[in-house]
Amino acid sequence: AQQSEQILSVTGLRRSFGGVRAVDGIDFEVNRGEFVSIIGPNGSGKSTTINLVSGVLRPDSGRILLRGSAVRHGSPEDAAEAGIARTFQNGRVFGNLTVAENVEVGLHTTLGAARPFRSLVRYPVLRWVPILAELALALLPTPKVRAEREILRAEVDSGLARFGERLSPRAGDPAYTLSYANRRRTEIARALALDPVLLLLDEPAAGMNQSETAEVGRQLAELKANGQTIILVEHKLELVNQLSDRVIVMDEGSIIAVGTPEQVQADEKVIEAYLGR
Ligand code: ADP
Ligand code: MG
Repeated sequence: AQQSEQILSVTGLRRSFGGVRAVDGIDFEVNRGEFVSIIGPNGSGKSTTINLVSGVLRPDSGRILLRGSAVRHGSPEDAAEAGIARTFQNGRVFGNLTVAENVEVGLHTTLGAARPFRSLVRYPVLRWVPILAELALALLPTPKVRAEREILRAEVDSGLARFGERLSPRAGDPAYTLSYANRRRTEIARALALDPVLLLLDEPAAGMNQSETAEVGRQLAELKANGQTIILVEHKLELVNQLSDRVIVMDEGSIIAVGTPEQVQADEKVIEAYLGR
């Protein structure tokens, strides 16, 4: 048997919004190369869990360890530097930036030239400032900037290429000209460009039709085959069933079942949670 290395360890994680206990003390681990899905009814705390692990939200209490080291809470940049990349439930691409620039945005947290502007990534309106700074620097290239641009270009290309042939031909097009499915692919390519230790996907197939969903499934299967460690939040059970080594079921902020897709779908508590709404 393969020896399993723990990538993520979450203990006693809690986060409330006003009186709502969105995540009410959960514990789970993810091992290297594992594909773990989180399912549960609407409002059960799935996105909040992803937001906590990726540093978008600060926990009220609890511990998040990535390869044994504490992830600094409340900062997506620090989570990204630690090796955690994510996509958002509602998709976030910048319409006026090209596909390649959108992928590049994901890399500015790791490159030295953009580091002074790094904190701006926090503010939606200012997110593109690091890119403009990067372009301005490129006009008077020092050897260091030139070397960093080389690395950047290679990483952007690999981010695009790793998500199939659909994006590479569109690299120079503004994102607003893309189909919905391609915008979501762009977002995944951006996350992949970071070469993350852990990839978090929040409903990557939301709003996609059946053939687009199946294609996302194939691409995720390929990532899994390459050994990428993944946490998937998804409503579409065909994806969950096809891909998951393990499924975590949440309801009202708690984990109510963990097991293989077959195990959790036969679980009384899970059936009740879904039928009870
Ligand atoms: P899921 O992704 O499983 O549908 P969420 O994690 O988005 O669930 O939400 C869990 C609960 O926390 C819901 O009751 C939701 O309304 C609440 N919630 C989530 N985010 C916020 C927020 N930023 N402010 C207030 N309430 C929130
Ligand atoms: Mg959600």
